[in-house]
Amino acid sequence: MVTETYGAEETFALGRRIGETAHPGMVLSLTGDLGAGKTVFTQGVAAGLGIEEAVNSPTFTIVQIYDGGRLPFYHFDVYRIGDMEEMDEIGYEDCFYGDGVCLVEWADLIKELLPEDVCRITIEKDLEKGFDYRRITLEGLEVQRI
Ligand code: ADP
Ligand code: MG
Repeated sequence: MVTETYGAEETFALGRRIGETAHPGMVLSLTGDLGAGKTVFTQGVAAGLGIEEAVNSPTFTIVQIYDGGRLPFYHFDVYRIGDMEEMDEIGYEDCFYGDGVCLVEWADLIKELLPEDVCRITIEKDLEKGFDYRRITLEGLEVQRI
């Protein structure tokens, strides 16, 4: 499914909808350039899970865990990952194959570790359509149109 958003709040709302319906063991992979809106989308997912804590990109850690919602939420930002061993050290398998919801920003950098049934979300800009325009492609995910 391809959807388009025309502002950060619409991307947030799409994420929230996915968070509301997310199920245990779900892994969401997020791909898109710097500033595409991956973190905005992530904040929506967290809100949809009922997490009230502020969600930002983890700067010094690869993963940030939020326990305040309907399900545990594991927010990975693997932008600074060195090698796959770092993921092992973090214990990513317990997250990916656990009972929470995982979301991975810059998921392409660890694609060999992603589970087969990962939900892929790609966010792209198209400056011809405006600065706040985003094309969001969702694969492996059923979402009602926003
Ligand atoms: P990323 O995590 O992909 O690097 P961020 O989510 O941190 O990107 O930042 C996206 C920026 O783009 C924010 O400043 C946000 O307000 C802005 N923005 C403008 N339009 C949109 C849109 N349609 N969807 C998401 N973010 C948007
Ligand atoms: Mg980000």
